Amino acid sequence: MNGLTTQVVVIGAGPTGLTAALALGASGVEVTIAAPPYDRAPIEADRRTTALLPGSIELLKNLGVWAACERHAAPLEGVRLVDDRGGLLRAPEVLFKAQEVGRTSFGANIPNAALNAALHAQVSSAQHVRWAATSAVVAVEPTEGGVALSLAEGQRLKSALAVAADGRASIARGAAGIAVRVWSYGQTAVVTTFQHTRAHANITTELHRRAGPLTTVPLPDHASSLVWVEEPSIADRLSALEPALFLAELAGRLQGLLGSVRAAGPIATYRLSGLSVARMAQNRVALVGESAHVIPPIGAQGLNLGFRDAAALAECVAHSLAEGEDIGGGATLAAYDRARAADVMSRTLSVAALNRSLLDDFLPVQALRGLSLHVLANVAPVRRLLMRGGLEAPGRLPHLMQPGHGPLRPRGPQSP
Ligand SMILES: Cc1cc2nc3c(=O)[nH]c(=O)nc-3n(C[C@H](O)[C@H](O)[C@H](O)COP(=O)(O)OP(=O)(O)OC[C@H]3O[C@@H](n4cnc5c(N)ncnc54)[C@H](O)[C@@H]3O)c2cc1C
Repeated sequence: MNGLTTQVVVIGAGPTGLTAALALGASGVEVTIAAPPYDRAPIEADRRTTALLPGSIELLKNLGVWAACERHAAPLEGVRLVDDRGGLLRAPEVLFKAQEVGRTSFGANIPNAALNAALHAQVSSAQHVRWAATSAVVAVEPTEGGVALSLAEGQRLKSALAVAADGRASIARGAAGIAVRVWSYGQTAVVTTFQHTRAHANITTELHRRAGPLTTVPLPDHASSLVWVEEPSIADRLSALEPALFLAELAGRLQGLLGSVRAAGPIATYRLSGLSVARMAQNRVALVGESAHVIPPIGAQGLNLGFRDAAALAECVAHSLAEGEDIGGGATLAAYDRARAADVMSRTLSVAALNRSLLDDFLPVQALRGLSLHVLANVAPVRRLLMRGGLEAPGRLPHLMQPGHGPLRPRGPQSP
């Protein structure tokens, strides 16, 4: 492609975009991130935390990011599911322990602010990653030989491949002609962090309620993050409460599970929606993160999926580079789509089904849900099967997500 300015452009600098840029850069590809410049304020304003699964942690280790994250993170040694629907068919409590499947933990929970700060710091010193600061990418034009981007300030960028890490309203996805389906769940997540007197013992608790799950996720010391899913009007009321009143409502829900609760941080709300795409890549554009999939925050899957996208894409691109193939060409994009489609589809469907099973009052649905929890509580092999399914993606994990593997190094020349 004439006037090629970089091999790959990553559009968007959320956690998936930064990770994709680092993974591609670690594989020897010249990457330019087209996104607003680093700004501490919005990063620190993100009150969410992310439960990272073991593969995501290995990825961050291999990219040199984890050392800066570790002290902010708490290990997740267990997951407790509690049926709090108050219906006729109350199911037993289920406790998944990492030890049962031969692990010390299921992963770790880290504040998004700490994770994003660590990713930005690593990007700023990464060898093959540059930053094209812009308020926004305003146009993406894929052609036979390459893809051209227009930045809001008037500059143009050309590359062999554009990585759409520009979130759920991705303009790059639209430009590539990838069909998208979007739906709403009619639920809002109330998010904050809080302290408590009883130790969480590194166990995440999901209270399964009629309006959606209420989840507490361990943070270091006697603190946890909260994702409390409610009907939007109730969530609005909760988020407007004085801190002391909010804590009283929370204490009522938790019923002493974590002792007395105190010192809640600022509260944020997120309307829950879903999004799925027809293909993960097309016309020199590869989708990663929420441009490709949006799922409710149940079972800690969203960003973990995005990290698997990033690592798989880096592997496909490194392979094409080594073979002297076009890194944005049809064969590379088809390999990426094959690598990611089953994982993305299965997580989107299973999380949506679990969420809907909580909302559905139809007795047979509740009976089936209760029966499943009975089986999980009492039949250890089934419990272990589900734990492994929750931790492991179908198929092989990308090299960058395997312990101590380190970045891939391409052998051949780049051929856009
Ligand atoms: C309440 C809640 C709890 C969650 N908990 C978990 C959890 O425990 N574990 C987990 O794995 N996941 C979790 N998730 C999901 C996770 O937060 C998301 O998957 C993740 O934030 C998505 O990151 P992203 O980089 O794909 O998208 P985003 O964070 O949306 O980033 C997109 C970026 O692109 C930029 N952008 C957009 N358009 C343009 C443009 N035209 N030009 C340039 N830049 C552009 C935006 O400014 C933004 O910075 C949770 C989500 C919610 C709502």
